[in-house]
Amino acid sequence: MNQILSASRAVLSESDPAVAKILQSEAHRLSDGLELIASENVASPAVLAALSSVLSNKYAEGYPGRRYYGGCEHVDEVELLAIERAKKLYGAEHVNVQPHSGAQANQAVFLSCLKPGDTILGMNLSHGGHLTHGSPVNMSGMVYKPEFYGVRESDGLLDYDEVRRVAHATRPKLIIAGASAYPRIIDFAAFRKVADAVGALLLVDMAHIAGLVAAGVHPSPVPFADFVTTTTHKTLRGPRGGIILCRNDHAKAVDKALFPGTQGGPLMHVIGAKAVAFGEALSPDFKKYAELVVANAKALAATLVESGVKLVSGGTDNHLMLIDLRESPLSGKDAEERLGRIGLTVNKNTVPGETRKPMVTSGIRIGTPAITTRGLKPSDMKELAEAIVCALHHNEDRMGHAQTLVTRLCQKYPLYDGVFAREGYAVPKI
Ligand SMILES: *Cc1c(COP(=O)(O)O)cnc(C)c1O
Repeated sequence: MNQILSASRAVLSESDPAVAKILQSEAHRLSDGLELIASENVASPAVLAALSSVLSNKYAEGYPGRRYYGGCEHVDEVELLAIERAKKLYGAEHVNVQPHSGAQANQAVFLSCLKPGDTILGMNLSHGGHLTHGSPVNMSGMVYKPEFYGVRESDGLLDYDEVRRVAHATRPKLIIAGASAYPRIIDFAAFRKVADAVGALLLVDMAHIAGLVAAGVHPSPVPFADFVTTTTHKTLRGPRGGIILCRNDHAKAVDKALFPGTQGGPLMHVIGAKAVAFGEALSPDFKKYAELVVANAKALAATLVESGVKLVSGGTDNHLMLIDLRESPLSGKDAEERLGRIGLTVNKNTVPGETRKPMVTSGIRIGTPAITTRGLKPSDMKELAEAIVCALHHNEDRMGHAQTLVTRLCQKYPLYDGVFAREGYAVPKI
């Protein structure tokens, strides 16, 4: 890996060999298999360097220029830099870079504009929505009154007529657009229209597609939404964390709802790493990366469909696809386990019209952000699809062949080579 990583690892192996050994095992797990979980990525050596830095030591409750602690002059600089870069990246009026996660970004938006008991309208979890958009097991579904829209069962596409119908019937105070398992372009203008018709605010949670939006390969929600939340660690390829973008008229309420409303001290090392990631995302190389993420997903989806695999909505416009196993004897859980055995890491996922239990499911979600960072190209997707199909459709003796295909791809594209090598990072081997 890179020099800073090997240097910090040397310190760790001397002072705490037990933890160092676990880190080494995780590096090997990442390196010896292909990461196909759609919400994961591989952060750059520069992002990891900022994460493991002295910025972690600082308490900085408050905002730049208005802190509750002394000694904040340098963390102020890094937070302002992160804000400035995020504004430029998305053309946003106001940005809060302090949310510890996507879930906390959403929670802060809710607190800024809702009262307990207010109605919210989000996407059905089993159709691809997110836990934090009103699920009964999440705070969002306990404190507020959740209503849901979904996709059409016939074609797996978002049903904008249903969004309008449910919005008129339930009069939500806040409409939430955004998903964690939807393979198609989302029409944010359509959501705005519905929000205006019923006098609702619009939150777009672009956690999954933030990198594609930054690169202009998915339409931006920023011109249409009152609030936009996102994670920074998915297609955006930064550190684990969240941010909130909003119009100036909501800025004060959002900042107050995040701190002191829901969080204490910000994670300054993560904010430093967010600044690095936003800098990377502003580069022309990142645009090429995001285009390749989509090209890889389209190539993989096309080959899977040709091989007889059923995909929700028949394909993809973005970085992910959903394999529909409703008619298969294999459940999502079985498929996750079989693919795991040949070094392909995926997650089971509910699909529209789900009949199996949430811990079993009838779907597999597959994403291309991490393998694209690693360097895989559309021309490699045939081999990857063949490995997936072997694991899903064939008996035990085809598993060896599938494993060989995966190992070959892993060796062809070493971890921390790929786009980081192309972008000129120093990348010694693991
Ligand atoms: C991943 C995700 C989140 C939550 O992010 P965490 O950082 O895990 O809290 C929120 N919304 C959507 C749509 C997501 O996909």
